[in-house]
Amino acid sequence: MSAVGLGRIVQAQERISDRVRHTPLAFSASLSTHCGAPGHLKLESHQPTGSFKLRGATNAVLSLSDEARKRGLVTASTGNHGRALAHAAKAEGVRAVVCMSALVPANKVDAVRAIGAEVRIVGRSQDDAQEEVDRLVREEGLTAIPPFDHADVIAGQGTIGLEIAEACPDTELVLVPLSGGGLAAGVAAAIKGRLPQARVIGISMERGAAMHESLRAGKPVLVEELETLADSLGGGIGLENRYTFAMCRDLLDAVVLLSEEEIAEGIRHAFVAEGETVEGAGAVGIAALLAKKIEVRGPTVVLVSGRNIDEALHQKIVNAAGHAALSAGGGAR
Ligand SMILES: *Cc1c(COP(=O)(O)O)cnc(C)c1O
Repeated sequence: MSAVGLGRIVQAQERISDRVRHTPLAFSASLSTHCGAPGHLKLESHQPTGSFKLRGATNAVLSLSDEARKRGLVTASTGNHGRALAHAAKAEGVRAVVCMSALVPANKVDAVRAIGAEVRIVGRSQDDAQEEVDRLVREEGLTAIPPFDHADVIAGQGTIGLEIAEACPDTELVLVPLSGGGLAAGVAAAIKGRLPQARVIGISMERGAAMHESLRAGKPVLVEELETLADSLGGGIGLENRYTFAMCRDLLDAVVLLSEEEIAEGIRHAFVAEGETVEGAGAVGIAALLAKKIEVRGPTVVLVSGRNIDEALHQKIVNAAGHAALSAGGGAR
């Protein structure tokens, strides 16, 4: 029995269903032809903040006590989780503070402010920003909502698995982008609960795959963070990991790693063949199929997790005829 089971995910679905989008499950003719089995895209890139993280953040905000609600929330994420938490808090009239270092680019600062969160600029590193989060929790009683290792966040992400199982009960395989593992843990718990015959495979980039290294080591380990096109998959899983490591260990059937060229091909294919703008992290499932790194045995669902990619970088990737132009490219950090 995993830390976050089907019951908790079903509760999350009831709680958040009128706050987040029930995203489309789109049939993909190109991937179906490529794999020789029906292929579908679960388009979480269509969530209002551009990623699935709205589900976990909304479930966490709605699960707060009135007391905690009054004191407000805090995070150090400047990426998709920060955006999602800002959005979810605003929808409920809850104060949200996002701590950032002075090195975070102005457009990211503005994006979080525009949603209505308070921004605190502190220090010159992500560690400095996290220290300010810890201080606000300690001294001002704010509640920190972490991006993945939190039961309500995992349950919220798991609601995607319920939607997949309902829309496509003959699913044999689900491909899930994998970083800290909140998404994969939640989706796998829901899929294994509803469709025990289905496989769930996590996909990461070769450059800095923290969960993959941790699973191999049998415990959470530190991994050097490297620049990658799948920038939303960067970062560690936390040496004090409470939930996602054990859930990914127990529930995932495999983890597959991708090169930067393969990820670029996924982004390009999503746009050219499917008309979808997808960020690197969101394209890894498509990329894994195109690279023939996964054996397909039946109906397959690819979870497309987000669309927040720098426009110029996206254009460069889509326009690249081969892979050559991309090998020097960097992520949209
Ligand atoms: C956060 C994120 C992921 C990875 O989710 P985890 O729960 O950290 O594994 C994948 N894709 C996108 C777009 C994300 O924002």
